Amino acid sequence: MTAGLPERLAALRERIAAAAVRAGRDPAEVTLVAVSKRVSPERIRAAIDAGQRVFGENYVQEALGKMRALGAQGGLPPDIRWHLIGRLQRNKARDAVAHFHSIEVVDRPDLARELDRRAAARGRVVEVLIQVNLSREPQKAGVPEEELAGLLARCAALPHLQVVGLMTLPEPVGDPERLRPVFARLRALRDSLRSAPGGGNLRELSMGMSADFEVAVEEGATRVRVGTALFGPRAGVPEEDRR
Ligand SMILES: *Cc1c(COP(=O)(O)O)cnc(C)c1O
Repeated sequence: MTAGLPERLAALRERIAAAAVRAGRDPAEVTLVAVSKRVSPERIRAAIDAGQRVFGENYVQEALGKMRALGAQGGLPPDIRWHLIGRLQRNKARDAVAHFHSIEVVDRPDLARELDRRAAARGRVVEVLIQVNLSREPQKAGVPEEELAGLLARCAALPHLQVVGLMTLPEPVGDPERLRPVFARLRALRDSLRSAPGGGNLRELSMGMSADFEVAVEEGATRVRVGTALFGPRAGVPEEDRR
């Protein structure tokens, strides 16, 4: 990587916009979520200075530490948004509700109930996405497709939770074209569930990462979660990050 972060950010935005235009979409429909797991506060600051405002973090504790550091070192612009994109344990729900603007990883009723309870205690409604496991690997995070409508209906009964979309994290494959049917499937699920109980607010599709975000945008992504292509390779990434 020879280009600096501002150049990489600009190039990424151009590629996202070009993919949107290829699909006849308005590039403004697509939000770049800069995945900053294991990225230092200093480099997050560089991204903020380059104009980036939406960040994705996988681990609540790690994210809180960086939010604090950034807050102490000159503060944060008021329009910064943090998205939680890593597997969430119930005992972290309170911190997640307190510090994240969007929780993209709701995949089971007990977690949904806990988030609702914590949001109620803060007198707010928390924005969530339901994570769907489309690759049918039992150990992976995400609700299986056949349980999605049921989970959505249960979330609809929780007044402090608003489900605004679906998220998926497919296994990485060599050729991004192979993920096209997976991305198209997530879009079809969102579209069909809009008329289902609890589906009235479904608009977001969080799908696509560094290796495949262009295909995801062509298939309707409204949020792409990109880490490596913006910040460069992460040191010592455990397998868990892929789950
Ligand atoms: C790490 C991660 C990403 C970003 O992956 P890159 O390949 O670095 O772009 C996106 N989504 C989730 C859920 C992740 O854990």
